[in-house]
Amino acid sequence: MNLSEKRTILDRLNAGEVIICDGGYTHVLERRGYVTAGPYTPEVVLEYPTAVREIHREFALCGADILEAFSFNGTDDNLNKARMADNKLCAKEICEDGCKIVQEVAKEQGCLAAGPVSSTDSYRKKLGKEKVQEEFRTQIAVYQSFRMDLLIAEFFMNVEEAEWAVEVMQETGLPVAISMCIGPLGDHNNISIEECGIRLAKSGADIIGLNCRFEPDICLNTLKRMKAAVEKEGIKVHWMCQPAGYRTADGGRDGFASIPETALALESRLISRWDAHKFARRAYEEGVRFIGGCCGFEPYHIRALAEELHEERGRLPKNSRGLYASSLKYHHNPIVQARANKEYWYNLIPTDGRKAT
Ligand SMILES: [Zn+2]
Repeated sequence: MNLSEKRTILDRLNAGEVIICDGGYTHVLERRGYVTAGPYTPEVVLEYPTAVREIHREFALCGADILEAFSFNGTDDNLNKARMADNKLCAKEICEDGCKIVQEVAKEQGCLAAGPVSSTDSYRKKLGKEKVQEEFRTQIAVYQSFRMDLLIAEFFMNVEEAEWAVEVMQETGLPVAISMCIGPLGDHNNISIEECGIRLAKSGADIIGLNCRFEPDICLNTLKRMKAAVEKEGIKVHWMCQPAGYRTADGGRDGFASIPETALALESRLISRWDAHKFARRAYEEGVRFIGGCCGFEPYHIRALAEELHEERGRLPKNSRGLYASSLKYHHNPIVQARANKEYWYNLIPTDGRKAT
């Protein structure tokens, strides 16, 4: 590990570095048969740790600087909601194993390891601040004992719950990132995007932004509004964006959560790796320096982010196989050989191959 890799996330962001984060473990692992669609809880860290380790490694080889422990949705209330009759797992056990696995791969690959903090079922049931913060504390105590490099609270639909999460995360002294899964219509308590941005910025979190549910362009359009409102208030903060890897133009308030293909036919909505290239470029131009993906983002999408920003980052991902389709010149078919250029792929509008009805 060289000196630059030992610097903290805040050292790196303060120096203007572009940080690439990983993608959406829950959907990646569900497609491989390790996570159950519906509850989407992370028992796989105990049942098949090798599978989790390998996905961390794939994201790292594709250019991710940050790897998140796979304990999303792993609070006791979420686990209880999804509990099968023979399931005796608890949040502490899942978080501990998630930390062990991610730290092992982060050390091997020179990445930073993050502890994810999830929104809670207790908030949705209106059980009050004390109960909600108790759920956060179970996860966060584990991350603190493992001395994780940063905490990332994500997938928050209400800015009030996000503020409660930041309060608990700040008790650790670790760098704090907070990300909401909301779109242009604001949070689920009808608080505007602009107000959510200002409240997140004033919460004291080091990095704020949006993740999941909405396609990259909608996410960036929304983030742009938040950022303008925060800058108008004169508050300085780092920005993060980890959109869904699905097209959600018809998604309304809840993005992919409300489209007909959710949850078991989302493949036709997947963004291409070239969409990921375009997202990385636009995010960079909008001033976002913590860039990754959420549900739908596979390792190859993360590789596209890292390849697109390779000049700004001064390096290519370890498993890059050539920029902008250059390796297609070795394809056996001359028609495909002719596609060994950036313009072809950037201008292509993919179809899904189904017969029009
Ligand atoms: Zn997601």
